[in-house]
Amino acid sequence: MPVSLDTIVSLCKRRGFIFQNSEVYGGLANTWDYGSIGVELKKNIKEAWWRAMVYERDDMEGLDSAIFNHPRVWEASGHVESFVDPLVDCKGCKKRFRADDPSIVSDGGAKKCPECGGMLTEPRKFNLMFRTFMGPVESDSNVIFLRPETAQGIFVNFVNILTTMRRKIPFGIAQIGKAFRNEITPGNFIFRTREFEQMEIEFFVKPGTDREWYERWINERQDWYLKLGIRKENLRVREHPKEELAHYAISCSDIEYLFPMGWAELEGVANRGDYDLKRHSQFSGRDLSYYDDATKERYIPYVIEPSAGADRAALAFLVDAYREEKVKGEKRVVLGLHNSLAPIKVAVLPLLKNRPEIVSMASEIAKDLKGLFATDMDDSGSIGRLYRRQDEIGTPYCVTVDVQSLQDKAVTIRDRDTMLQDRINATELKNYLLKKLFSAHK
Ligand code: ATP
Repeated sequence: MPVSLDTIVSLCKRRGFIFQNSEVYGGLANTWDYGSIGVELKKNIKEAWWRAMVYERDDMEGLDSAIFNHPRVWEASGHVESFVDPLVDCKGCKKRFRADDPSIVSDGGAKKCPECGGMLTEPRKFNLMFRTFMGPVESDSNVIFLRPETAQGIFVNFVNILTTMRRKIPFGIAQIGKAFRNEITPGNFIFRTREFEQMEIEFFVKPGTDREWYERWINERQDWYLKLGIRKENLRVREHPKEELAHYAISCSDIEYLFPMGWAELEGVANRGDYDLKRHSQFSGRDLSYYDDATKERYIPYVIEPSAGADRAALAFLVDAYREEKVKGEKRVVLGLHNSLAPIKVAVLPLLKNRPEIVSMASEIAKDLKGLFATDMDDSGSIGRLYRRQDEIGTPYCVTVDVQSLQDKAVTIRDRDTMLQDRINATELKNYLLKKLFSAHK
């Protein structure tokens, strides 16, 4: 049975992954805080992305551009003009809906409010960018936007990176960072929020090679999810039909995941042609073309954009890893997270919490492991309860220290997935865990 979103939300709260923002004040709707366990998961996702996309490739550079940008950036990108959703308001109950909301009923040509049946206004355009003012004066000339995507920070730094890193095309620029959209219909937990984190690449290629790179990137990005444990049957690619494409896009595909609420976009891969660099050239007056030394050609590169969301990825990894099993007649909840994503890699658990020698040996072991792995030392309960907690947060290995350990210096290591146990000398523990945690299949 697929897991429900409610089950994931309650696990996240119970185990310290994700909390409702401002909960003590009744909560800020659709806004979430990552707790001590969740922050590790999200950090691991971003690190896995950076490792695979930047460190392990020789055609990628990193970037961390500001959230604020010159307002002209958003005029050039088209966001001021067309990053809009059409909205309608109910003249009766004053509620606001997206004009394409399927629950709006048409009564003899007139659109009716799905809540109270009242008359609706004509659709009005609503810009999804958050606006604020820079500096002490609140005037139109001081308007500044919170970026609705990280991509534009990459385009406006294209020449900086090209020249300082002495790059040749094809190459890409990768960036992770917060983005903000005043979404009309946020919801489904961390799937759609107004503040979220993106992991974006703009990959610059020679026109004519764009189709090939576009297909390569769809495959590369799918493989990334699969290698990190997402089940194949829960992932699919949906190519946008012509009528769904943004006006600048040559082609676009969504990598979709089977979330509890159905198939939905996890990541988009778009062939944006030369739209962005051309527009920034026009609006800034700066030449953003590329000169190819080998062929003596000058051109504006085409861009392939794989654009992922760190929060949406976190939700997909949580849902995919969740399983319930029956063990000796009892329910066991396990998050079978990939080793590199698991928030805690090793938990050290003293079998008896009221035996100071055992607790102290466990503390020594934990201290020794902490420099290498995210390690949790927990002596707060019975071993059954401690295992349950570690299973639910996806800890791959639990090390227990018992009475016998005091004599023979051996400890027991329990594997999260198989629940099989190995007994080894504490001095071999580091090597054992290094091998297990970094073995190729996990
Ligand atoms: P959607 O159709 O779901 O609104 P989009 O096509 O507008 O998404 P993009 O602009 O392609 O999304 O953004 C790239 C990625 O950023 C998405 O695939 C998603 O993972 C993430 N993302 C976009 N909007 C949000 C949001 N409001 N909350 C969380 N993640 C988001």
